Amino acid sequence: MSTIFEKIIAGEIPADIIYRDDHLICFPDINPAAPVHLLIVPLKPVPTADDLSDDDAALVGHMFIVARDLARQHGLAENGYRLVINCKADGGQEVPHLHLHLLGGRHLGPMAGRS
Ligand code: 5GP
Repeated sequence: MSTIFEKIIAGEIPADIIYRDDHLICFPDINPAAPVHLLIVPLKPVPTADDLSDDDAALVGHMFIVARDLARQHGLAENGYRLVINCKADGGQEVPHLHLHLLGGRHLGPMAGRS
């Protein structure tokens, strides 16, 4: 069964696609946790970070380069931002299609689990 992100990639579910290339798409999170909360989603349906193969190294690097550029475009570079990949249940992953969260626009506080 295809995930919600595969349906967004296929155009079956609407999303405000702000960036697209041959390898990934980017759109705002429907339930943002920060003033800027973007999802960088590879077209290739890798379920989790644990499912990445050695051949995916360039894809993962590309996700981070696109995140860097989007952060700059959204005015986040000077003050900084957070990049997050949740993996499986303990990581809090809800959608089983690899994605990188780009969060910024306010001070995000400590990492989860730290006070
Ligand atoms: P995860 O917890 O898997 O790392 O993150 C999944 C994210 O996808 C969540 O932050 C959630 O708000 C977002 N999300 C779930 N369904 C949709 C949707 O239909 N559209 C968009 N734009 N975001 C979604």
